[in-house]
Amino acid sequence: MSARIIDGKLAAAALRARVAATVTGLSFRPGLAVVLVGEDPASKIYVRSKDRAAAQAGIMARTIYLPADTTEAALLAQIAALNADPDIDGILVQMPLPPQIQVDAVLDAIDPAKDVDGLTPVSAGRLLAGRASLQPCTPRGVMHLLAEMELSGLRAVVLGRSVLVGKPMAALLTNANATVTIAHSRTRDLAGECRRADLVVAAIGRPEMIRGDWIKQGAVVIDVGINRLADGRLVGDVDYAEAALIADAITPVPGGVGPMTIACLLENTVTAALIRRRV
Ligand code: NDP
Repeated sequence: MSARIIDGKLAAAALRARVAATVTGLSFRPGLAVVLVGEDPASKIYVRSKDRAAAQAGIMARTIYLPADTTEAALLAQIAALNADPDIDGILVQMPLPPQIQVDAVLDAIDPAKDVDGLTPVSAGRLLAGRASLQPCTPRGVMHLLAEMELSGLRAVVLGRSVLVGKPMAALLTNANATVTIAHSRTRDLAGECRRADLVVAAIGRPEMIRGDWIKQGAVVIDVGINRLADGRLVGDVDYAEAALIADAITPVPGGVGPMTIACLLENTVTAALIRRRV
């Protein structure tokens, strides 16, 4: 039997509509600042789509383009100005950054109250402590996709331990009372870890590495990976055709986790605005 497809496009559209409805009811427009340093083509596409999605939700989006040779000091000064700007509720600095800029210095500079990417140490610490926090958008999007599922007591494996996806994903699942294993490139028996799991979240950036026979019968498979093959096709970290025969439910790539990320950025922007402006 083929798995139920978890439709991220549909879920993202519903979330964006909820965000837009919230914004309509406000007496002000939440403001999102996106800072792009350099000319990375993929980053430009991401930034434009964030800009468009924000505008559609009624959020005031301000994109700041800085040249590739921007110094760290100049970027930190830009962030300080955005921290102080009363019209800006959320600040996102698009990664990757040019080599002369330290990512940690940038994250340390963002006001945690405006950290709509959920990546500052304050946000990460609050998440680990199980306190209310602005959460990283991709793992938050995964939690939305799992909203109907009883996670308590489930055995979950998160493949990947990045600050952006794997670690916060594991924290969110732990906070939801799943029993979580974090696997990574040094894990001895990745296939075995997967086979024990009721829920597999794959975020390793390795095209179709997770095979159907790694999946436990009836498990739920969330594929965060986005990998472009030589022939131009986009695939996830999971071999979809194989896994869909075994899993109970699975996210496709594209159209699974991807659309949720921007929707959660909008959601976080409105959350930050409501808290900061004490609405
Ligand atoms: P990173 O490269 O930062 O992290 C990858 C993680 O996977 C690391 O922890 C690494 O282990 C682990 N890993 C790599 N190779 C293997 C392997 N062979 N076996 C086991 N573990 C492995 O990637 P990100 O977390 O940023 O992204 C992961 C994937 O998710 C990418 O495909 C990315 O494009 C996608 N992504 C999708 C988003 C979306 O909106 N859908 C948003 C963000 C990312 P180690 O720590 O030991 O090196």
